Amino acid sequence: MDRKVRVRFAPSPTGPLHIGGVRTALYNYLFARQNGGDMILRIEDTDSNRFVPGAEDYINESLAWLGIGIDEGVREGGNYGPYKQSERRDIYREHVKMLLDAGKAYVAFDTPEELEAKRAEVPNFQYDASTRMSMRNSLSMPAEEVKRLIDAGEKYVVRFKIEPGRDVEVNDLLRGKVTINSSILDDKVLYKSADDLPTYHLANIVDDHLMEVSHVIRGEEWLPSAPLHVLLYEAFGWADTAPAFVHLPLLLKPDGKGKLSKRDGDRLGFPVFPLEWHPEGGEVSSGYRESGYLPEAVVNFLALLGWNPGDDSEIMSMDELIAKFDLKHCSKSGARFDYEKGRWFNHEYLQLKSDEDLAELFVPVLDGHGIDAASYPKEYIAKAVGLVKGRIYFVRDLWDHARFFFAEPVEYSAKDVKKRWSEDMPRIMGELIEVLNGIDDFSSKNSETIVLDWIASKGYHLGNVMNAFRLTVVGECKGPHMFDITELLGKEETVRRIRKGIDNIKPQA
Ligand code: GLU
Repeated sequence: MDRKVRVRFAPSPTGPLHIGGVRTALYNYLFARQNGGDMILRIEDTDSNRFVPGAEDYINESLAWLGIGIDEGVREGGNYGPYKQSERRDIYREHVKMLLDAGKAYVAFDTPEELEAKRAEVPNFQYDASTRMSMRNSLSMPAEEVKRLIDAGEKYVVRFKIEPGRDVEVNDLLRGKVTINSSILDDKVLYKSADDLPTYHLANIVDDHLMEVSHVIRGEEWLPSAPLHVLLYEAFGWADTAPAFVHLPLLLKPDGKGKLSKRDGDRLGFPVFPLEWHPEGGEVSSGYRESGYLPEAVVNFLALLGWNPGDDSEIMSMDELIAKFDLKHCSKSGARFDYEKGRWFNHEYLQLKSDEDLAELFVPVLDGHGIDAASYPKEYIAKAVGLVKGRIYFVRDLWDHARFFFAEPVEYSAKDVKKRWSEDMPRIMGELIEVLNGIDDFSSKNSETIVLDWIASKGYHLGNVMNAFRLTVVGECKGPHMFDITELLGKEETVRRIRKGIDNIKPQA
């Protein structure tokens, strides 16, 4: 059957979107784009008890940051709206009535206390074909009594009447055919009169049908609901156009044991949310964006958690991911959340940025460290960045590796002083100043030749002299090629720092 690909991401606004949810959104998006289909964002807010203010905006902002485009949704509009379930009450009411009229659902009055009592009395109590006639519902009670209670405003729920003893087949594109017997299912609540809202199951099915969703791609945690959903499609007479299912593997803890949780992130120091989350009066949770990750790195990292391109490509842009994505290469087993790999992706994506772009990103970091970045030519910052970027995982790391281009050393590494600053070093550094002052072309290559010739002619120890030189200029014995540093700093500044080093560094016993 040729059917337009239409997929949906259907989060419930119950808190910050978890990184696993982001992956679900991403796979839906890749699949939609690859197939020239539509990507829907549907807000499933029928559980009023769990509604969290700000969560919907958070979802929108997260997807926008990552470049996961939405074709139809609350903000985007579309022909199948409203896209927020709390605005679709009439539709659900009408569909609940359809099931009731067809005898596929029934009204039940059992109060929470009555249900509790029943559970205490009957071991493993389940509301189903074997027990429903002993409960207070429209199947066990006379019709007039049911009407009287409803008219009197008694609270009720509508339950799905599951016929026992049937094999229900769920076809999952990833997992194949899963068969379960309907007798193990309970008569799920589909609607609650108390808040005039459907439950997740009914709303989800009705909307997938009305929005002409072709593929339901969602997390593995929803697999147990799938048989019920299959039966609901059938009850409505929609089995022929029911969407195909894909249940994505769980994201596992970094050690592979159990489901990834926020606590793992807190314990091991990585975010499990795309953006920082500020709950009202609660503790802030860190986000990938605020932790310095580039959105394209997060997308690439997430794409490979549960899918592989079938070859060994690792660095893939969104367009490449769209071209390569294939449900056949999704894995069934859980994907270990290797956050070190996430850092590696960020490093790689930073290397792909031009020095000029990285310099732009570095400006706020410099300002944050009290450096007036505007007082430096843009090319100066870009060159400094270019010399150290190979060592960074995050933009903020540029400060550690390039600070000396913007601030002279205020202290000198004790370890390096001890190792490199011998008694005769002040004198040798004084000679070095003479040599440097005599150089007209202060370019890296030229100064290197001249300084190395001088060291050789004097018979000095190359490593000792060069490291002492570096100590005065950088403050410690590491960093990029020494003469690249001095070229950028310029002769005057280089000489000034050596002089300061001579005055301030005290040889250590
Ligand atoms: N509202 C459900 C959730 O929060 C949607 C599950 C589904 O995609 O069917 O994940």
